Amino acid sequence: MILERFFPDLYIQSIYDLPLAELKEMGIRGLVFDIDNTVAPFDVADPDEKLIDFFAQMQDMGFRLCILSNNNKERVHRFNKPLKALAIHKAGKPNPRKMKQALKRLGLVPQEAAMVGDQVFTDMWCGHRGGLYCIMTAPICDRDQLITKVKRGAERKVMQVYFKRNGMI
Ligand SMILES: [Mg+2]
Repeated sequence: MILERFFPDLYIQSIYDLPLAELKEMGIRGLVFDIDNTVAPFDVADPDEKLIDFFAQMQDMGFRLCILSNNNKERVHRFNKPLKALAIHKAGKPNPRKMKQALKRLGLVPQEAAMVGDQVFTDMWCGHRGGLYCIMTAPICDRDQLITKVKRGAERKVMQVYFKRNGMI
């Protein structure tokens, strides 16, 4: 079915619900995160304490971390500074090219990584095209960049099908 390319492999409410131990058991050694509305609201410039601690905790568990955002250089690199992940700006999602380059820099093959994001047409599609395990979070808040707002209606329709099929609604 054509919609499947947009479906997550796993849906969670928040990044803090990531099943880190299970992911490790599955052979996932790297996590690739979207920023805007996945780990922080799109209009918040710096990560909070909780997020900084969470990134440190994941790194302590041995995960290699990447921030992969379509947003600009200033936004992405300022946000990543205290997180100390590999940061890729203007990632061009859903094109998986920069995602694949990032994985190479982390020393991982796609099967060893998971994409974590809040959008089906950018994050999930990019992850699937790149061969990653795809984890979707509910968007952190309903404030969005204009371009994202335009896509949300269609996204909701895709996710309605996903939720129904998985008995979640
Ligand atoms: Mg996002």
